[in-house]
Amino acid sequence: MRLFRGFLALARILVGDLGVELTQPDVEAAFEPAPLLVALSWGKVRYRGQIVLEFLHQAISLDEILIAIHRSSKAQIPKIKIIGYPLESEQPAVTISTDPSTGSSAIPILRAWDDPSICHGFVGRIGGAGVGRYASLNLSYFVGDQKDAVDRNWQLLRVQVPTIGDVAFVNQVHGIEVRRVDANARGERPDGDGMVASGERVFLGLFTADCVPILMVDKAHRVVGGLHAGWRGLIGGIVGAGIRAMTEAGARLVDLQVAMGPSIGLCCFEVDSPLADRFAREIPGAVRHRRAGLPGKAYIDLRGIINDQFEATGVDAENILSVGPCSKCESSRFFSRRAAGGKVTGVQLSFIGLT
Ligand SMILES: [Zn+2]
Repeated sequence: MRLFRGFLALARILVGDLGVELTQPDVEAAFEPAPLLVALSWGKVRYRGQIVLEFLHQAISLDEILIAIHRSSKAQIPKIKIIGYPLESEQPAVTISTDPSTGSSAIPILRAWDDPSICHGFVGRIGGAGVGRYASLNLSYFVGDQKDAVDRNWQLLRVQVPTIGDVAFVNQVHGIEVRRVDANARGERPDGDGMVASGERVFLGLFTADCVPILMVDKAHRVVGGLHAGWRGLIGGIVGAGIRAMTEAGARLVDLQVAMGPSIGLCCFEVDSPLADRFAREIPGAVRHRRAGLPGKAYIDLRGIINDQFEATGVDAENILSVGPCSKCESSRFFSRRAAGGKVTGVQLSFIGLT
């Protein structure tokens, strides 16, 4: 499908031809000319009388964005506002903690477990050296950030988390491959969306910017794991693949602890209905984590689905934590691809290893 990209063109239509005001001027839009004409026909007003400027996302890693504008009549158009659904009560329980020993200038790191032998954390975007879309604590060398800034950010992280050693990564491809990592694998970066390691001093790192980072640990059997779960991976079965890899590495389900990190929430993860239907078809019980959106759209709770999948496999519900907020709602604290209008941004690190 051929798409025309251009925020400027959209802004000209909105601000010039329609006389409306964008509240998020850095949004980049992509649209098809014919559907745009359809979309610009008047729809309906929702929520506090504000016009809804709606982005129909096919994926967290955005390849396409469609714009639809809805309003109730041809009366004067009020301010456009990009909305989310504040459904905090429907989010899984959230456990937030920061390292109390880090002082005021520290990088905020969310942690799931109060256990110093489990070296882990969900790092946000605050406190680093990057600028622009990478502002500021991007720790990936593979998203276009300045190497010097990334180097500096790793120095900052290592000062704050001195126990962290070399960190193993995979080249995340929205698949379900889970790699077994050992101390000899350092420096490699094979394709994959999960890693497991047994023993000590092997650290695993994942990068996300709306997808769900999942950390796993069976401390009794000295196995750790990490998964990158966006919608493609979830439908593909990344959770099942991750659990299999953990058990093959020696973990036991009864001892498994799981933490999902900051990622796009039910409030903001809007997909078109065919994708929502696919979730319902291909993931048992996923329909429970779906909410109706505007016509033709729905909201999906990725963390809710992941939580159910771990429970269904036999992981104790009390051992499954959801840490941190919606990355899009809190895009000042966490990188969010959607909040950036689909542009490549920095990504946040989630890491785990046993010391
Ligand atoms: Zn949100």
